[in-house]
Amino acid sequence: MALTGLDIFKQLPKTNCKDCGMSTCLAFAMALARGSTELDLCPHVSETAKEFLGIAFAPPIRSVIVGAGPTQITLGGETVLFRHDKTFINQTAIVITVSDTMSPAELDEKIRNINDLNMNRMGLRIGVDAIAITNCSQNPEIFKTVVDRVAAQAKNLHLVLLTEKPAALEAALPGSAAQRPLVGSATADNWQEMVALAKRYAVPLIVKGNGVNDTAALIEKVANEYKELVIDTGIRNTAEVIVALTKIRRLALKKKFRPFGFPTIAFTTAEDPNEEIVQAGVFVAKYASVVVLKADEKPYVLPLLTCRMNIYTDPEKPIAVEANLYEIGAVTPESPVYVCTNFSLTYYAVEGEVIASKIPGYIIAVDTEGTSVLTAWASGRFDAQTITEFVQKCGIAEKVNHRSLVIPGYVAVISGKLQEKSGWKVIVGPQEAIGIPAFAKAYYSKEA
Ligand code: SF4
Repeated sequence: MALTGLDIFKQLPKTNCKDCGMSTCLAFAMALARGSTELDLCPHVSETAKEFLGIAFAPPIRSVIVGAGPTQITLGGETVLFRHDKTFINQTAIVITVSDTMSPAELDEKIRNINDLNMNRMGLRIGVDAIAITNCSQNPEIFKTVVDRVAAQAKNLHLVLLTEKPAALEAALPGSAAQRPLVGSATADNWQEMVALAKRYAVPLIVKGNGVNDTAALIEKVANEYKELVIDTGIRNTAEVIVALTKIRRLALKKKFRPFGFPTIAFTTAEDPNEEIVQAGVFVAKYASVVVLKADEKPYVLPLLTCRMNIYTDPEKPIAVEANLYEIGAVTPESPVYVCTNFSLTYYAVEGEVIASKIPGYIIAVDTEGTSVLTAWASGRFDAQTITEFVQKCGIAEKVNHRSLVIPGYVAVISGKLQEKSGWKVIVGPQEAIGIPAFAKAYYSKEA
């Protein structure tokens, strides 16, 4: 049950000292109940009250760290059901499995493929997060050998150790615990031993139940001993997984049901890689914190990474590149100068087509707060005045021996005014970036 303002007020010092920035303790309590301030802003709360209120204000879904060092990832910590309410916080970790029954050659090839599963999209590097090693051999020594082999070759990838045998985990953890792998699974039969290992090596633990209700009961027991947990409902049918993950997220956020206040993991089952990626994409959208899959080829995995990126970007914040003057290729004083906005999609579309034109050029990415050409023009962020100011301050005049700007065809209407204000000749380019190679060939190719 959420605390009311009066419940909170009872725990405060009631001195009305105003150190929190509020005029009274009651006002602070009410603001806290609404979620518009933070408990830390009152420096006078007693330790007992802090503990009481700390539990009440604990995030509905715990954040769990996997991996060590600067690339470590955070699972969970989400606060909303829908991305349009507020952004999702910690993107789903994409994990590819290998088996400890693979031959060394097969294993090395698979690790090479997984290492290669990353790309640059709109200026951001996106890639797979971890490799999961499955103890199919059931043999602790083989498991340990394969975990060590993967750990030695995986580049910037974290580890997930999948075995229900405590002996196998005990064999593999001494060599890998420093990398803080996610391990599991603790089940109704082995959870005491698995929790003891997770505690000893300070690693997060997957708890695997058998359906939603059974999982809740198991997590309740395990969470009394250890809290770095990831929920696996044990369900593998796609539709049932979606229902289970949705129930878990709803109960955690809306009812503050503590056994479900942890990140979740889902496993794909489809053998066909096309189906598997669809399954994985659905789990990313609703509501897995970790998705484990087998496919390791770029045509399957890269679209999944793109789908994840789109879901986990902040819908209120356009993705922008730095507003700047960019040199594309071996530019010369004669090179063309293209003007566009600093909306990432616009910029990278233009950049890609300037490269494709094979005629080096400059791109002036005007600061439009990350909005696209027509949106920026309609809101006055991409008009003759703003472009002129940006052209003057970006230093292009010192780089070229001509005075011509190419503007997007969609804003041809500003060409006259821009020419007048900037003193530069304005050439109306194509409406879409895809037209740049043909345009550049016609205007700038020496052979043209
Ligand atoms: Fe009350 Fe604490 Fe605010 Fe002072 S700082 S007014 S004690 S809530």
